[in-house]
Amino acid sequence: MTVPVPTLTLNDGHTIPQLGFGVFKVDPDETRRVVGDALKVGYRHIDTAAIYGNEAGVGAALDASGIDRAELFVTTKLWNDRQGTESAFEAFDESLEKLGLDYVDLYLIHWPAPANDRYVQSWKALEQIRESGRARSIGVSNFLEPQLERLISETGVVPAVNQIELHPAHQQPGETAFARAHGIRIEAWGPLGQGKYPLFEEPVVAVAAEAHGKTPAQVVIRWHLQTGNVVFPKSNRRERMVENLDVFDFELSHTELATISSLERVGRVSAHPNDVN
Ligand code: NAD
Repeated sequence: MTVPVPTLTLNDGHTIPQLGFGVFKVDPDETRRVVGDALKVGYRHIDTAAIYGNEAGVGAALDASGIDRAELFVTTKLWNDRQGTESAFEAFDESLEKLGLDYVDLYLIHWPAPANDRYVQSWKALEQIRESGRARSIGVSNFLEPQLERLISETGVVPAVNQIELHPAHQQPGETAFARAHGIRIEAWGPLGQGKYPLFEEPVVAVAAEAHGKTPAQVVIRWHLQTGNVVFPKSNRRERMVENLDVFDFELSHTELATISSLERVGRVSAHPNDVN
Protein backbone atom coordinates (compact mmCIF):
# COMPACT_ATOMS: atom_id res chain seq x y z
CA MET A 1 0.00 0.00 0.00
CA THR A 2 1.36 3.43 -0.90
CA VAL A 3 0.19 6.52 0.91
CA PRO A 4 1.33 9.84 -0.57
CA VAL A 5 2.95 11.31 2.53
CA PRO A 6 4.68 14.62 1.74
CA THR A 7 8.38 14.94 2.46
CA LEU A 8 10.18 17.91 3.94
CA THR A 9 13.78 18.83 3.18
CA LEU A 10 16.17 19.08 6.12
CA ASN A 11 18.99 21.64 6.38
CA ASP A 12 21.49 18.98 5.27
CA GLY A 13 19.60 18.28 2.03
CA HIS A 14 18.07 14.96 3.09
CA THR A 15 14.31 14.53 3.05
CA ILE A 16 11.98 13.25 5.77
CA PRO A 17 8.40 11.93 5.43
CA GLN A 18 6.31 14.48 7.32
CA LEU A 19 4.05 11.82 8.87
CA GLY A 20 5.43 8.73 10.54
CA PHE A 21 4.79 6.24 13.31
CA GLY A 22 6.13 6.53 16.89
CA VAL A 23 6.78 3.56 19.18
CA PHE A 24 7.14 5.10 22.64
CA LYS A 25 5.59 2.67 25.17
CA VAL A 26 5.12 -0.06 22.58
CA ASP A 27 5.91 -3.24 24.50
CA PRO A 28 9.13 -4.85 23.18
CA ASP A 29 7.29 -8.18 22.85
CA GLU A 30 4.60 -6.57 20.73
CA THR A 31 6.78 -4.24 18.67
CA ARG A 32 7.36 -6.57 15.75
CA ARG A 33 3.59 -7.00 15.27
CA VAL A 34 2.77 -3.32 15.84
CA VAL A 35 5.48 -1.95 13.52
CA GLY A 36 4.69 -4.71 11.02
CA ASP A 37 1.08 -3.49 10.94
CA ALA A 38 2.22 0.12 10.61
CA LEU A 39 4.38 -0.76 7.60
CA LYS A 40 1.55 -2.79 6.05
CA VAL A 41 -0.91 0.08 6.27
CA GLY A 42 1.61 2.42 4.64
CA TYR A 43 3.91 4.08 7.19
CA ARG A 44 7.53 4.37 6.05
CA HIS A 45 8.91 6.58 8.82
CA ILE A 46 9.47 4.98 12.25
CA ASP A 47 10.55 6.90 15.37
CA THR A 48 12.13 4.83 18.14
CA ALA A 49 14.80 5.34 20.84
CA ALA A 50 17.28 3.19 22.74
CA ILE A 51 15.40 3.84 26.00
CA TYR A 52 12.15 2.46 24.55
CA GLY A 53 13.78 -0.99 24.63
CA ASN A 54 12.09 -1.94 21.37
CA GLU A 55 14.73 -1.28 18.69
CA ALA A 56 15.15 -5.03 18.11
CA GLY A 57 11.40 -5.40 17.49
CA VAL A 58 11.48 -2.45 15.09
CA GLY A 59 14.42 -4.06 13.27
CA ALA A 60 12.64 -7.42 13.06
CA ALA A 61 9.56 -5.77 11.56
CA LEU A 62 11.61 -3.78 9.03
CA ASP A 63 13.43 -6.93 7.99
CA ALA A 64 10.26 -9.01 7.70
CA SER A 65 8.50 -6.32 5.66
CA GLY A 66 10.75 -6.79 2.64
CA ILE A 67 10.45 -3.04 1.98
CA ASP A 68 13.42 -1.50 0.22
CA ARG A 69 15.72 0.24 2.73
CA ALA A 70 15.73 3.36 0.57
CA GLU A 71 11.95 3.73 1.08
CA LEU A 72 12.25 3.71 4.87
CA PHE A 73 13.11 6.50 7.28
CA VAL A 74 14.27 5.32 10.71
CA THR A 75 15.09 7.50 13.70
CA THR A 76 16.60 6.43 17.00
CA LYS A 77 18.02 8.34 19.95
CA LEU A 78 20.97 8.44 22.34
CA TRP A 79 19.91 7.99 25.95
CA ASN A 80 21.12 10.35 28.69
CA ASP A 81 23.41 7.93 30.51
CA ARG A 82 25.35 7.23 27.30
CA GLN A 83 26.13 10.86 26.53
CA GLY A 84 29.84 11.57 26.00
CA THR A 85 32.23 10.60 23.22
CA GLU A 86 33.15 6.90 23.43
CA SER A 87 29.91 6.06 25.25
CA ALA A 88 27.90 7.71 22.45
CA PHE A 89 29.81 5.77 19.77
CA GLU A 90 29.14 2.52 21.66
CA ALA A 91 25.48 3.32 22.22
CA PHE A 92 25.05 4.15 18.55
CA ASP A 93 26.66 0.85 17.49
CA GLU A 94 24.33 -1.03 19.86
CA SER A 95 21.28 0.71 18.40
CA LEU A 96 22.35 -0.05 14.84
CA GLU A 97 22.95 -3.68 15.76
CA LYS A 98 19.52 -4.03 17.40
CA LEU A 99 17.84 -2.37 14.45
CA GLY A 100 19.76 -4.65 12.08
CA LEU A 101 20.62 -1.66 9.88
CA ASP A 102 23.78 -0.30 8.28
CA TYR A 103 22.64 3.25 8.87
CA VAL A 104 19.82 5.23 10.44
CA ASP A 105 18.23 8.16 8.71
CA LEU A 106 18.24 10.32 11.82
CA TYR A 107 20.07 10.05 15.14
CA LEU A 108 19.08 12.35 18.00
CA ILE A 109 20.37 13.33 21.42
CA HIS A 110 17.23 12.38 23.36
CA TRP A 111 17.40 15.04 26.12
CA PRO A 112 19.96 17.77 26.82
CA ALA A 113 20.40 16.51 30.42
CA PRO A 114 22.01 19.83 31.39
CA ALA A 115 22.94 18.64 34.91
CA ASN A 116 25.46 16.25 33.32
CA ASP A 117 26.77 18.92 30.92
CA ARG A 118 27.80 16.44 28.22
CA TYR A 119 25.54 17.46 25.38
CA VAL A 120 28.14 19.49 23.45
CA GLN A 121 30.59 16.59 23.63
CA SER A 122 27.82 14.20 22.55
CA TRP A 123 26.91 16.48 19.66
CA LYS A 124 30.51 16.33 18.39
CA ALA A 125 30.29 12.52 18.57
CA LEU A 126 27.06 12.58 16.54
CA GLU A 127 28.77 14.77 13.97
CA GLN A 128 31.48 12.11 13.57
CA ILE A 129 28.81 9.42 13.27
CA ARG A 130 27.17 11.41 10.50
CA GLU A 131 30.50 11.88 8.75
CA SER A 132 30.97 8.09 8.83
CA GLY A 133 27.71 7.76 6.87
CA ARG A 134 26.02 5.64 9.52
CA ALA A 135 23.52 8.38 10.35
CA ARG A 136 22.29 10.36 7.37
CA SER A 137 21.10 13.25 9.53
CA ILE A 138 21.61 14.25 13.15
CA GLY A 139 19.50 16.29 15.48
CA VAL A 140 18.38 16.86 19.03
CA SER A 141 15.29 16.40 21.14
CA ASN A 142 13.88 18.41 24.03
CA PHE A 143 16.50 21.14 23.59
CA LEU A 144 15.72 24.64 24.81
CA GLU A 145 16.88 27.80 23.07
CA PRO A 146 20.00 28.46 25.23
CA GLN A 147 21.16 24.87 24.73
CA LEU A 148 20.70 25.13 20.96
CA GLU A 149 22.57 28.42 20.91
CA ARG A 150 25.44 26.82 22.79
CA LEU A 151 25.56 23.79 20.45
CA ILE A 152 25.65 26.01 17.40
CA SER A 153 28.18 28.51 18.75
CA GLU A 154 30.57 25.83 20.07
CA THR A 155 30.42 23.45 17.11
CA GLY A 156 29.07 25.43 14.15
CA VAL A 157 26.79 22.48 13.36
CA VAL A 158 23.07 23.23 13.30
CA PRO A 159 20.82 20.26 14.20
CA ALA A 160 18.54 19.07 11.40
CA VAL A 161 15.62 18.76 13.81
CA ASN A 162 14.54 19.49 17.36
CA GLN A 163 11.97 16.93 18.53
CA ILE A 164 9.87 18.55 21.26
CA GLU A 165 6.55 18.11 23.02
CA LEU A 166 4.12 20.03 20.87
CA HIS A 167 0.37 19.95 20.29
CA PRO A 168 -2.36 22.57 20.03
CA ALA A 169 -2.45 23.08 23.81
CA HIS A 170 1.33 23.52 24.04
CA GLN A 171 2.78 25.08 20.92
CA GLN A 172 6.22 26.21 22.11
CA PRO A 173 6.30 29.54 20.24
CA GLY A 174 9.84 30.38 21.41
CA GLU A 175 11.39 27.08 20.30
CA THR A 176 9.52 27.04 17.00
CA ALA A 177 10.54 30.63 16.14
CA PHE A 178 14.17 29.80 16.95
CA ALA A 179 13.94 26.68 14.80
CA ARG A 180 12.46 28.59 11.88
CA ALA A 181 15.17 31.24 12.09
CA HIS A 182 17.92 28.59 12.04
CA GLY A 183 16.48 26.13 9.50
CA ILE A 184 15.79 23.46 12.13
CA ARG A 185 12.71 21.30 11.51
CA ILE A 186 10.34 20.81 14.42
CA GLU A 187 9.26 17.26 15.15
CA ALA A 188 6.22 17.33 17.44
CA TRP A 189 6.19 14.55 19.99
CA GLY A 190 3.00 13.76 21.86
CA PRO A 191 1.19 15.28 18.87
CA LEU A 192 -2.19 14.09 20.16
CA GLY A 193 -1.45 15.23 23.71
CA GLN A 194 -0.56 11.64 24.68
CA GLY A 195 -4.14 11.16 25.80
CA LYS A 196 -3.25 13.27 28.88
CA TYR A 197 -4.97 16.41 27.65
CA PRO A 198 -8.54 16.08 26.30
CA LEU A 199 -7.76 17.65 22.93
CA PHE A 200 -10.35 15.52 21.13
CA GLU A 201 -13.11 16.89 23.36
CA GLU A 202 -12.29 20.52 22.62
CA PRO A 203 -15.32 21.97 20.77
CA VAL A 204 -13.14 23.67 18.09
CA VAL A 205 -11.60 20.30 17.22
CA ALA A 206 -14.94 18.51 17.30
CA VAL A 207 -16.59 21.16 15.09
CA ALA A 208 -13.82 20.96 12.47
CA ALA A 209 -14.01 17.16 12.55
CA GLU A 210 -17.76 17.28 11.94
CA ALA A 211 -17.36 19.82 9.13
CA HIS A 212 -14.88 17.65 7.24
CA GLY A 213 -16.39 14.27 8.08
CA LYS A 214 -13.15 13.36 9.86
CA THR A 215 -12.27 12.29 13.42
CA PRO A 216 -10.81 14.67 16.05
CA ALA A 217 -7.47 12.81 15.85
CA GLN A 218 -7.34 13.37 12.10
CA VAL A 219 -8.06 17.08 12.59
CA VAL A 220 -5.24 17.42 15.13
CA ILE A 221 -2.80 15.58 12.82
CA ARG A 222 -3.88 17.80 9.95
CA TRP A 223 -3.26 20.89 12.13
CA HIS A 224 0.33 19.68 12.66
CA LEU A 225 0.91 18.99 8.97
CA GLN A 226 -0.44 22.37 7.88
CA THR A 227 1.60 24.05 10.63
CA GLY A 228 4.75 22.48 9.17
CA ASN A 229 5.55 19.99 11.94
CA VAL A 230 6.86 16.49 11.41
CA VAL A 231 4.61 14.09 13.41
CA PHE A 232 4.51 10.40 14.27
CA PRO A 233 1.42 9.57 16.35
CA LYS A 234 1.48 6.24 18.12
CA SER A 235 -1.19 3.59 18.35
CA ASN A 236 -1.01 -0.16 18.86
CA ARG A 237 -4.34 -0.52 17.07
CA ARG A 238 -4.30 -1.11 13.35
CA GLU A 239 -7.58 0.75 12.71
CA ARG A 240 -6.13 3.85 14.40
CA MET A 241 -2.90 3.52 12.40
CA VAL A 242 -5.05 3.63 9.26
CA GLU A 243 -7.11 6.54 10.62
CA ASN A 244 -4.02 8.58 11.51
CA LEU A 245 -2.61 8.12 8.02
CA ASP A 246 -5.86 8.99 6.27
CA VAL A 247 -5.37 12.76 6.47
CA PHE A 248 -4.46 13.77 2.95
CA ASP A 249 -7.92 14.23 1.45
CA PHE A 250 -8.98 17.36 3.33
CA GLU A 251 -7.59 20.73 4.34
CA LEU A 252 -8.31 22.89 7.37
CA SER A 253 -9.19 26.51 6.56
CA HIS A 254 -7.15 29.42 7.93
CA THR A 255 -9.97 30.07 10.40
CA GLU A 256 -10.00 26.46 11.58
CA LEU A 257 -6.22 26.47 12.00
CA ALA A 258 -6.44 29.70 13.98
CA THR A 259 -9.24 28.49 16.26
CA ILE A 260 -7.37 25.25 16.97
CA SER A 261 -4.22 27.29 17.67
CA SER A 262 -6.24 29.30 20.21
CA LEU A 263 -6.18 26.20 22.46
CA GLU A 264 -2.66 27.22 23.52
CA ARG A 265 -2.35 27.29 27.29
CA VAL A 266 0.75 27.52 29.40
CA GLY A 267 2.06 24.12 30.42
CA ARG A 268 3.25 20.77 29.19
CA VAL A 269 1.69 17.39 29.70
CA SER A 270 5.10 15.85 30.22
CA ALA A 271 8.43 16.60 31.93
CA HIS A 272 10.36 19.87 31.64
CA PRO A 273 13.52 19.25 29.57
CA ASN A 274 15.85 20.55 32.28
CA ASP A 275 14.46 18.03 34.77
CA VAL A 276 15.30 14.88 32.79
CA ASN A 277 18.92 14.06 33.53
P1 NAD B 1 0.65 10.68 21.06
O1 NAD B 1 0.28 12.10 21.23
O2 NAD B 1 0.96 10.13 19.73
O3 NAD B 1 -0.53 9.88 21.75
C1 NAD B 1 -0.57 8.50 21.75
C2 NAD B 1 -1.87 8.08 22.38
O4 NAD B 1 -2.95 8.57 21.60
C3 NAD B 1 -1.96 6.57 22.37
O5 NAD B 1 -2.02 6.17 23.71
C4 NAD B 1 -3.23 6.24 21.65
O6 NAD B 1 -4.07 5.48 22.46
C5 NAD B 1 -3.90 7.55 21.38
N1 NAD B 1 -4.32 7.60 19.96
C6 NAD B 1 -3.56 7.43 18.85
N2 NAD B 1 -4.27 7.55 17.74
C7 NAD B 1 -5.55 7.78 18.13
C8 NAD B 1 -6.75 8.00 17.43
N3 NAD B 1 -6.81 8.00 16.10
N4 NAD B 1 -7.89 8.22 18.17
C9 NAD B 1 -7.84 8.24 19.50
N5 NAD B 1 -6.73 8.05 20.23
C10 NAD B 1 -5.58 7.82 19.55
O7 NAD B 1 1.86 10.42 22.09
P2 NAD B 1 3.27 9.73 22.02
O8 NAD B 1 3.22 8.32 21.61
O9 NAD B 1 3.89 10.01 23.34
O10 NAD B 1 4.04 10.58 20.92
C11 NAD B 1 4.26 10.11 19.60
C12 NAD B 1 5.70 9.68 19.42
O11 NAD B 1 6.59 10.74 19.74
C13 NAD B 1 6.15 8.57 20.37
O12 NAD B 1 5.61 7.32 20.05
C14 NAD B 1 7.63 8.68 20.24
O13 NAD B 1 8.08 8.11 19.03
C15 NAD B 1 7.80 10.19 20.23
N6 NAD B 1 8.10 10.74 21.59
C16 NAD B 1 9.30 11.34 21.80
C17 NAD B 1 9.62 11.85 23.03
C18 NAD B 1 10.95 12.51 23.23
O14 NAD B 1 11.30 12.82 24.38
N7 NAD B 1 11.69 12.76 22.19
C19 NAD B 1 8.72 11.77 24.09
C20 NAD B 1 7.48 11.16 23.86
C21 NAD B 1 7.17 10.67 22.60
